[in-house]
Amino acid sequence: VPPVLAIVGRPNVGKSTLVNRIIGRREAVVEDVPGVTRDRVSYDAEWNGREFTVVDTGGWEHDAKGIHRRVAEQAELAVDVADAVVFVVDATVGMTATDEAVVSMLRRKDRPVIVAANKVDDMVQEADAASLWSLGFGYPYPVSAVHGRGVADLLDAALEAM
Ligand code: GDP
Ligand code: MG
Repeated sequence: VPPVLAIVGRPNVGKSTLVNRIIGRREAVVEDVPGVTRDRVSYDAEWNGREFTVVDTGGWEHDAKGIHRRVAEQAELAVDVADAVVFVVDATVGMTATDEAVVSMLRRKDRPVIVAANKVDDMVQEADAASLWSLGFGYPYPVSAVHGRGVADLLDAALEAM
């Protein structure tokens, strides 16, 4: 059975865009409206000749009430079946209350967590990524899911952790 990599984070940080990058097809649902990923969706993936399963997450309801908890609960379902986790943050926005809810859940787990500081489309935004060191999950990998920047290093780290 191939190892499982869960991609978690609050709505709109670019999880599905990153999954598309990883699987190399336009298949995960990417929308400007948060919360469009209907369920946890698994895809077969391969990196450096190693096969793994990547799980995109989402699927919470749209109403704002209790969204922090629901996002964290959704993420937890994926984390519990994963061998490693990529926690995606929008580096241009930084940490929000919803991100913090996911972090609290991740701290209770013993899964390896790799931080993807997404939307670092150019070098100017790399400073935003560095502040995510403070989460305590190690080096925050600056990536641009849309452009592919930094995704190779992120995947190297993720596969190493599984
Ligand atoms: P999800 O809700 O976390 O799955 O986020 P999506 O993958 O649906 O992306 C949400 C929005 O962020 C879309 O408009 C994407 O095009 C945009 N986005 C995703 N990754 C990047 C990135 O690396 N750079 C920029 N500038 N925008 C991105
Ligand atoms: Mg999505």
